Amino acid sequence: MSAEVFITVSDVMEYLFCPRFIYFMYCLGIPQHEEKRYKVLKGRELHDAREKVNKSYIRKKLQCVRKDIAVYLVSRKYCLKGEVDEVLFLEDGTAAPLDYKFAEFKDKVFRTHKYQSALYGLMIADNYGLKVNRGFVCYTRSNHLVKEVKLSDKDFERAIATVNEVLDIIQKGFYPEATKYKARCVDCTYRNICV
Ligand code: SF4
Repeated sequence: MSAEVFITVSDVMEYLFCPRFIYFMYCLGIPQHEEKRYKVLKGRELHDAREKVNKSYIRKKLQCVRKDIAVYLVSRKYCLKGEVDEVLFLEDGTAAPLDYKFAEFKDKVFRTHKYQSALYGLMIADNYGLKVNRGFVCYTRSNHLVKEVKLSDKDFERAIATVNEVLDIIQKGFYPEATKYKARCVDCTYRNICV
């Protein structure tokens, strides 16, 4: 694996939506002319969300002693980069990513949100040299509910395997399987060239 190829956390999210996105974006160089599906909170929205999830809640409920805000993480070890909304440093000596989502909480943490926490977790562990065994997701459309996401070794292994699958497509240039969910093809940018 070449250390010079870096993919972003959002590339992995695109891959989970449909593996062919990676092929079209990286191997053919055709960008998506669409807003990213995984909406990232920016500026004012994020500021307001932070205000709502107030400091004492983060300190007491999440046992957080310190935090870094808007951290751009790069990990050579995992060929991965991306900006995490917050890195929390917890009382037990571990660290955890906190990600704000412009979304409602619906019964459980989405698979993609869990992957995202695991990917940021890998980079936090690599950059800060601290153990990561959980992440937090704040759902701004559910009254800023903060949910804990437990991260096991298996979750990290799965996240690394997925990163390697993405790198494999980019480096070997093979045409991956289409998504199993045909409904996703309906308004896809690539539907005219995807066979
Ligand atoms: S048309 Fe369907 S299979 Fe092809 S890239 Fe789009 S979502 Fe994937």
